[in-house]
Amino acid sequence: MGNQVGGGRRSRPAVEERYTRPQGLYPHPDIDLKKLRRLILEAKLAPCFPGSDDPRPDLDECPICFLFYPSLNRSKCCAKGICTECFLQMRTPTSCRPTQCPYCKMVSYAVEYRGVKTKEEKGNEQIEEQRVIEAQIRMRQQELQDDAERMKKKQAAALTNEVTTAQVEHCDTGGASTTGSGSLGKSNLH
Ligand SMILES: [Zn+2]
Ligand SMILES: [Zn+2]
Repeated sequence: MGNQVGGGRRSRPAVEERYTRPQGLYPHPDIDLKKLRRLILEAKLAPCFPGSDDPRPDLDECPICFLFYPSLNRSKCCAKGICTECFLQMRTPTSCRPTQCPYCKMVSYAVEYRGVKTKEEKGNEQIEEQRVIEAQIRMRQQELQDDAERMKKKQAAALTNEVTTAQVEHCDTGGASTTGSGSLGKSNLH
């Protein structure tokens, strides 16, 4: 274990030994465990944390296996997350074809690992999410308001229509009878 001390140049939390090998999500028959361990210890790949079924705000979901991890690798092409075991599954070491990105289909798929997201990054993401949600709520409220206004106008229009027709009818009959009797009365007088 003494040779691990050399890795302490950059301050990064040491990866627990048990997370430097696959947790058994897939069978990995032809995996180079030594190489994998080195990549994880050098922080080139995310540690093989056991995935969790429960979503938690401090965990990231791997879009391939739908499990939640403290940190994921990111594809260099489209910055999508992937857990180390799914990444190993994507790479077919026996084939000489370059691997395609499972998300954007970019050839020569490669990932990088930026470590567990800092509190600041998490905070920024949450602020961004909050903004999106608030914008959606505002839009929904605006829609509801518009709907209500349209409804009100419709009702008002229907009401005035009723009133005017009623008034017109009333006027018509009333007017006819008054003018009728008026003219009658007038002609009687003459
Ligand atoms: Zn995964
Ligand atoms: Zn991609």
